[in-house]
Amino acid sequence: MSPDHSLSQARRFSLGFFPTPLVEMKRLSAELGGPRLFIKRDDQTGLAFGGNKTRKLEYLVGEALAKGCDTLVSGGAAQSNHCRQTAAAACAAGLGCHLALGGEAPDVPEGNLLLDTLLGAEIHWGGPHRKGEQIPDIVNQLVSEGKHPYRVPYGGSNTTGAVGFVAAMGELKAQLTQLQQSLTHILFASSSGGTQAGLLVGARLFGMGAKVIGIGIDKGEAGDDPFETHVQALANATVRHLGIAHHFSATDVIVENDFLGDGYGKVGELERRAVTLTARTEGILLDPVYTGRAMGALMAMIESQQLTRADTVLFWHTGGAPALFPYAADLIAPG
Ligand SMILES: *Cc1c(COP(=O)(O)O)cnc(C)c1O
Repeated sequence: MSPDHSLSQARRFSLGFFPTPLVEMKRLSAELGGPRLFIKRDDQTGLAFGGNKTRKLEYLVGEALAKGCDTLVSGGAAQSNHCRQTAAAACAAGLGCHLALGGEAPDVPEGNLLLDTLLGAEIHWGGPHRKGEQIPDIVNQLVSEGKHPYRVPYGGSNTTGAVGFVAAMGELKAQLTQLQQSLTHILFASSSGGTQAGLLVGARLFGMGAKVIGIGIDKGEAGDDPFETHVQALANATVRHLGIAHHFSATDVIVENDFLGDGYGKVGELERRAVTLTARTEGILLDPVYTGRAMGALMAMIESQQLTRADTVLFWHTGGAPALFPYAADLIAPG
């Protein structure tokens, strides 16, 4: 059985342009005096300003269409990149889209919310709920109206969505083989867990030796299971879904939780420095919430010698730049 046999069975609806570019960041590496740095440009997936959710949505929308659904329902924060890509995916597939967003309707929508609006998504405001808690109610309402809704979970992170990142690891492996390049570490922002679960399964399936390290972005609520446990469960559910015989143990899941700062969506000096330094050395725009924090973590791990000149590190750019605009005030250094 070829390693991607089980993957080829999954239904996929094309939404993006793949493979995304893999490029070296020589100027940033020199600036940091650190390891060789590569970047995987999933901010360039091509669907309505791109991002990592495009990969998950190709499989989620594939499943929605196979089931004869007519409407995608998802949810997240008001500036959710996942919701913006879901809204765009719905348009591209000829489906309706309902989004449950945290907060209240602003007078003028900005950033991702502006894009959701332009893409015609129907928005349901959830006040304190920013993780799609109202999705089941919206689904029930649509069913009672005779619609056929498809539930896209928070962050697109279920086994179907994670398959997108299993395939992504195969894509990366092929690019590295062509460059005759190997990696010691793969770093990325990890929040709803589907990216990390998929990459873990993909690393196993395609024989990638690099350490897969998620940078924790969201503190979560008191009483939630540890995020690592969630990623482990999703990775194990994904191997079962694909019919691969493997079990991930707790020690297989590496999440760095030292960079949570003041919590989800709170921009501090770590994020400001990472966003501006990456922009000014490479001309690459990160985002304030996810990739800014993850790159800040990478920089701190170089400073603390967790990553050294002996390493070759891939930073997976997961997108999010539309959120730069609503965060303008936080991104301009104070004083
Ligand atoms: C959703 C998102 C992530 C996190 O991916 P998960 O699969 O939810 O862990 C990282 N970066 C950006 C820009 C995102 O939008």
